[in-house]
Amino acid sequence: MRKYVIIGAIGSGKGTQSELLARDLDIVHISVGDVFRWHVKNHTKLGAQVRRIMADGELVGDDLVEGVVRERLDQHDWNYGFVIDGFPRSRRQTEFFLESYDIDGVIHLDLPDDEVRRRVLARRLCAGCGMDYNLIADRPTQEGRCDVCGGELVAREDDTQEALAERLRQHHEKTDPILELFGRKEYVVTVDARPAIGEVQRTLRERLRLPMPE
Ligand code: AMP
Repeated sequence: MRKYVIIGAIGSGKGTQSELLARDLDIVHISVGDVFRWHVKNHTKLGAQVRRIMADGELVGDDLVEGVVRERLDQHDWNYGFVIDGFPRSRRQTEFFLESYDIDGVIHLDLPDDEVRRRVLARRLCAGCGMDYNLIADRPTQEGRCDVCGGELVAREDDTQEALAERLRQHHEKTDPILELFGRKEYVVTVDARPAIGEVQRTLRERLRLPMPE
């Protein structure tokens, strides 16, 4: 059984690295943001409670988040373990997590602020089918057009300079104390998130003493 937490700024590759880890180790990738997006999309009661908060880039209240995490982990569909992404995001959530679950490692994907800006401001989404692109690493064949459906590529509403500055500020304010709390009790592994996807994955496997990707 392997239980990991992955922490990092927006654009640091948390989702991508979690997926790679989950696929190979047969563990479950739990993204708290995805759980909320599912509720919003399916118009559940919880979705109605969090929709506005998410759209404004604010954090959902700790009680609600803890309830969602507890319920998700209570499903026990993670025989071989899990990697949780997007949680914890506050001191209280961290304390709750440390009291309720024992974890094997905390993966901290470290990315300097200017690289976060460069990556996030290059993100594009297809207005038609939702496919995502990145003007640095994953360019469409025809500029401004989706390779899949030909739709127009647009930036996400919250990927602006101003919104990003605020999200970065919040990230530092919240993440530093979390790392400090985990650092006291758990095994925090800080990995440089600047190299290519495969290299970051290999480094974190090495640091966690896990088998290397095929
Ligand atoms: P993410 O996809 O992880 O960036 O999450 C999207 C949004 O969901 C965030 O901007 C928050 O509004 C909400 N959210 C996700 N995880 C948490 C959390 N641990 N605590 C509070 N809000 C969260």
